[in-house]
Amino acid sequence: MNKGARAGIGFYLAILLIAIIGIYMYYESMQNQVEEYTINQFQSDLKEGEVSRVVLKQNEEVPTGVVNVSFRKGSSRSFYVSDVNIITEQILADYPDVKVYISDVDRPGMLAQILPYIIIGGICIFLFMMITSQSAGGGGGNKVMGFGKSKAKMTNGEEINVDFTKVAGLQEEKEEVKEIVDFLKEPQRFVEAGARIPKGVILVGPPGTGKTLLAKAIAGEAKVPFFSISGSDFVEMFVGVGAARVRDLFEEAKKNAPCIIFIDEIDAVARRRGSGLGGGHDEREQTLNQMLVEMDGFGVNEGIIVIAATNRVDILDPAILRPGRFDRKIAVGKPDVKGREEILAVHTRDKSLAEDVDLHQIARTTAGFAGADLENLMNEAAIYAARDMRRFIKKEDIDRAFIKVGIGTEKKSRLVPEKERRITAYHETGHAILFHLLPDVGPVYTVSIIPTGMGAAGYTMPLPENDNVFMTKGKMLQDIKVSLGGRIAEELIFEDITTGASQDIKQATAYARAMVTKYGMSEKLGLINYESQEEDEVFLGRDLGHARPYGEAIAKVIDEEVKRIVDECYQDAKAIIMEHMDVLHRCSELLLEKERIDQTEFEALFVG
Ligand code: ADP
Ligand code: MG
Ligand code: ZN
Repeated sequence: MNKGARAGIGFYLAILLIAIIGIYMYYESMQNQVEEYTINQFQSDLKEGEVSRVVLKQNEEVPTGVVNVSFRKGSSRSFYVSDVNIITEQILADYPDVKVYISDVDRPGMLAQILPYIIIGGICIFLFMMITSQSAGGGGGNKVMGFGKSKAKMTNGEEINVDFTKVAGLQEEKEEVKEIVDFLKEPQRFVEAGARIPKGVILVGPPGTGKTLLAKAIAGEAKVPFFSISGSDFVEMFVGVGAARVRDLFEEAKKNAPCIIFIDEIDAVARRRGSGLGGGHDEREQTLNQMLVEMDGFGVNEGIIVIAATNRVDILDPAILRPGRFDRKIAVGKPDVKGREEILAVHTRDKSLAEDVDLHQIARTTAGFAGADLENLMNEAAIYAARDMRRFIKKEDIDRAFIKVGIGTEKKSRLVPEKERRITAYHETGHAILFHLLPDVGPVYTVSIIPTGMGAAGYTMPLPENDNVFMTKGKMLQDIKVSLGGRIAEELIFEDITTGASQDIKQATAYARAMVTKYGMSEKLGLINYESQEEDEVFLGRDLGHARPYGEAIAKVIDEEVKRIVDECYQDAKAIIMEHMDVLHRCSELLLEKERIDQTEFEALFVG
């Protein structure tokens, strides 16, 4: 939107500029036309008695003079001569009735001479500013920084109208950023206590889940200035501009500390460096480097907190996630039923609802909706109500809005049919039970059947494991079993099986193969590395056909061994799940109801 508007203004200004230059050139050529009048023409005009008046202009410094001839018809023309005295003495002597005036050559003043250039230059600068600076529209307290500056929008703390009450359903996330708010409110207290506050926080989650909202709410809660810029703003111009903008942004922020710098879509700048096959992207790399330099440069407690948002943490350059940079990662997920109900409540706060509107019911039917989708839903409903000249929203409006919004959302986040939800619930529970019961994996932190927006129908997340230097054979086998758990649960409950477990199977196979070919964990094959150097080969561009360092017979044994390991794990895992069918059912039911359950809720299922 903004960009379009800017381009529009630029376009009109360009036309105006061209018009001005055109007029100027036309005017110049008009003057030249006047000079085409010659002394010979003048003499013949004199003879014919056409000339009424002659003005001669010459002064000492100027070698040429100008003869300005007025005719009886009223028009006038001019020509140049080397010496006006020739005119007075030789030509005009014969025509006493022609009035002759002598005047100084009128030299155009300095200003008049350079005025056109000033105007054109001014227009050029103005044009450039219009194109580079962000349009200031759309915000009371927003201030766009000056020309050639960082392009960030700064909002003063008092003018931010978002606080935590506007952010619904992100209870844990708000909890996590609470200390940042406290720090920004009273940095001094933290400095005195010697506490270390993160410099950078990265919010990761699917679009529309409230990352921008949360970042803004932190600034709103702490009442500190909020600088916001999008990663793509750094990379749209010439090489070096992005880096300069970063420098500017941090400089400006330092002047306003304590404050928050919010970098939306950070993946636009912070993609893995040098990963593109077609050579690096210089501009982006420079910008990223500058950002890292700036972040390393300011002290831990200087009062600047950089918050970044992305929906693709996997493509980020690992350098930005290092300690002292964005070392705090907060996952902002799609809301569960309860979260959705809270978000609906926030977005209906200033709308009147008819009694037939049941937010809980709407929350139940909108699995997979992100906060932005829910906001959109209520907004569309309000529009339907307004079209009917009603001041309140009826259930019917919401149902109609649901069809409209649902179609758009279907593409993005896909509404999940009930059957699929059931399968996902059992699948995830299968993983979770094994995580919980096997000794070296788990414990389970969250089980969820909320679509992640990145292709997964649900997820089971263990607590981050302790830093094992070595993987043991036992743990690897357990990992394989956990991977197979989802598929096993599906098999036990439903007649048919789905394709949903393909990733799990791939993972299990990869583990088993690594055990055999890399870690010497198969007795049949012994302590020999059978890995093919495929990765190196890709880089060296060698013929892939020769990648295997062993013969057919060995290849066959490897395949058999991999199959044996996976099969044994499968049997083991199946036995464990079958022993806990009651948990499988109860956990799946709970998941269908709540969509996401935490460690305590999950572990309680084993007690009952
Ligand atoms: P993101 O930055 O994650 O893409 P935004 O913060 O831009 O998402 O969210 C867009 C809009 O959706 C917000 O302005 C808000 O109206 C609504 N929204 C999203 N998440 C929430 C939430 N948790 N609570 C309330 N409103 C939300
Ligand atoms: Mg956003
Ligand atoms: Zn799975």
